[in-house]
Amino acid sequence: MAKTPGWLAARRLLKQLRDLLQQGGPAARRLDQVTRLIANYMVAEVCSLYLTRAGEMLELFATIGLKPESVNRTRFRFGEGLVGQIAASGRPLALADAQNHPNFAFRPEIGEESFHSLMGVPILREGQTLGVLVVQNVTPRTYSEEELDSLEIISLVVSEILASSGLVSTEERRLVESSGLLPARLTAMALTEGIGIGEAVSHHRSLVIRRFVSHDLGEELKRLHRARDEFSENLDRLLKARDLAGSGEHHDVFETYRMFVHDRGWIARIEEAVKAGLTAEAAIQRVQSDLRQRMGQVTDPYLRERLHDLDDLANRLLQHLVGGESPSEQLPAEAILIACNLGPSDLLDYDRSRLKGVVLGEGGPTTHVTIVARALGLPMVGRCPSAMTEIRPGDPLIVDADQGQVLVRPREQVLNSFHATLTDRDRRLKLFAETRDLPTVSKDGVRVSLQMNAGLMLDLPQLHACGAEGIGLYRTEISFLVRESFPTVAEQRKIYTEVLDQAAGKPVNFRTLDIGGDKALPYWSGKDEDNPALGWRAIRIGLGRPIILRRQLRALIAAAAGRELSLLLPMISTLDEVVRAKSLIQMELALAAEPPTKISCGVMLEVPALLWQLDGLFDLVDYIAVGSNDLLQFLFASDRGNPVLARRYGLFESASIRLFTKLTERAEARGVPLSLCGDSASHPIEALMLLACGFRRLSMPPVAMAPVRMMIRSLDLVAFRAFINSRLGIDSAAMQHAIRAYALDHGIVLS
Ligand code: PEP
Ligand code: MG
Repeated sequence: MAKTPGWLAARRLLKQLRDLLQQGGPAARRLDQVTRLIANYMVAEVCSLYLTRAGEMLELFATIGLKPESVNRTRFRFGEGLVGQIAASGRPLALADAQNHPNFAFRPEIGEESFHSLMGVPILREGQTLGVLVVQNVTPRTYSEEELDSLEIISLVVSEILASSGLVSTEERRLVESSGLLPARLTAMALTEGIGIGEAVSHHRSLVIRRFVSHDLGEELKRLHRARDEFSENLDRLLKARDLAGSGEHHDVFETYRMFVHDRGWIARIEEAVKAGLTAEAAIQRVQSDLRQRMGQVTDPYLRERLHDLDDLANRLLQHLVGGESPSEQLPAEAILIACNLGPSDLLDYDRSRLKGVVLGEGGPTTHVTIVARALGLPMVGRCPSAMTEIRPGDPLIVDADQGQVLVRPREQVLNSFHATLTDRDRRLKLFAETRDLPTVSKDGVRVSLQMNAGLMLDLPQLHACGAEGIGLYRTEISFLVRESFPTVAEQRKIYTEVLDQAAGKPVNFRTLDIGGDKALPYWSGKDEDNPALGWRAIRIGLGRPIILRRQLRALIAAAAGRELSLLLPMISTLDEVVRAKSLIQMELALAAEPPTKISCGVMLEVPALLWQLDGLFDLVDYIAVGSNDLLQFLFASDRGNPVLARRYGLFESASIRLFTKLTERAEARGVPLSLCGDSASHPIEALMLLACGFRRLSMPPVAMAPVRMMIRSLDLVAFRAFINSRLGIDSAAMQHAIRAYALDHGIVLS
């Protein structure tokens, strides 16, 4: 980085880049100036800009440091060399010894022999890779994460310059996506996680109806009802075969789905069509086509999803009536399924060991098929309409559900780099499994309790796999979000009993319903609000509509009969809210047939006003869980979901450090257990900062646990705290930079 690091230098650079953007003159000259400015700022001997041309080809467009005669001559295919790897994967790369990397491609004409280190980032805009920005240094150096961040921010400005420069026309780039046999990269929405590699298979059923007119009304009705009953039985068999029997959100999905088949209205409409003289299959098809027409008109996502379930069901019944081959029969050994949309049961038809991923033209994060795909551990992306036209059956594909992209007909090098990513991931998972049982104690003997955040029944097996001491935050609203209507007390009780059973004695903090705000229930609209994050949500609903909260408390108390129960109240702003919630708990306890052996009541600290009511709060609660996502959002008046603000404010601001340090001191002095369960706990560098602030309990998603555990085990906390105290008051970027440098010097593992 520049000699005068930090925001001042960064801001100056961004301003200079923007000034260039506004200047006229030949674009090529402006790009030369851009590379010079970036090289100076990054203290790099080389800065080069490669732009994407048709056919997934990257061309060197501007450079400072490499031979000028290679400009507009040197080209790399996507996936070829390190530059090609960055473009193909859409991910940055920072290497101290680039030339010994297996993907390094030597190009004698550019003269890079003397440059050892390389850091490059993709230049992305509106889902397209416009090019790659690279800096290189003579001396081998390990680029810091902050430097990588800076280069990524710079690449955003460069993307603006490129978009307005017209250097490579959009038509020319579009060629890449529309020319059938060339590789293509399609942007999509990541619906689950992971990467799948395989051959495209399109999902279609060969259902041919041969008989339309019925000769025997009674017989057709019997066939219809038989198909319906067989469907229910078959579903059970499939769930068992795919290891999805039991409980969990996917189970609820199938229960609802099963209810449709007995839905009077729907079946009655089919029966009517049969009575009008159609065969059972023709009648189903008739009702199905009405349904499809309605689907085309409905924009509400919730209703569309229900209609889609009915469409899927109609297909199932048709399959029973007219037969048709099982999709698994023609499935290649490694298949990626392509479909406009799928019903929740469709995935069960495919052999999971062959199915490596799914690409949907439609789909969404809360659709039923997404829940089932998650249960099956399938990488899946959606909202990718171009998949329907760009992908042909048999095409090699990479479904990257981590980055939300589909690589169609990828080149060999791209495939290799994704295979390498998969291998690396397996290796890391293995390493994490090995660290599971290691004590979470720092080198100087400070013990830290690591707990897990959960919300889906599917998360629970992770509790034992990741070595968490308990569930620090169980988000009960998730199981409300996937349903048709409010679950009954009995249904809720079943879920909570299962959670406690699976936790097998490890503590679970059940957070009462945190709906409203960004978590809208499809079947309960609440109020129309200008500022839902500050509105009718969480405990405010619980106290305003006590029946909802009381039913949930009743279910929780019943589930914990004869064992311990820990409750956590969300979005508390005043002590009065705690008092009122506790009195509802008391009322429900008084009615319980068999109460829990012990009941604890904690509060989420998410609203800054609580910070000035701590003494009273300590008297009222058994523990406090800091929800840093909301607390920091409200503290800095900075929307947690707004990507523009994502890195602007946060834990490393001195305001946050002072606040958290004071908070942990006060809680410790009063002997009130304090934990933190927001996203800050999941990143090793932030978890490190939290430890310096005095936190000793952190709750995070299971995947985050191993890296945080390794960080703690490599840390001398007393020395690190002294270091932080000596730096208090510096700005957030400088603080992060200082911590990374310290970690590097003192062997603290941050990745
Ligand atoms: C938080 O606000 O930090 C938190 C854990 O709650 P949620 O993310 O569910 O709002
Ligand atoms: Mg919150």
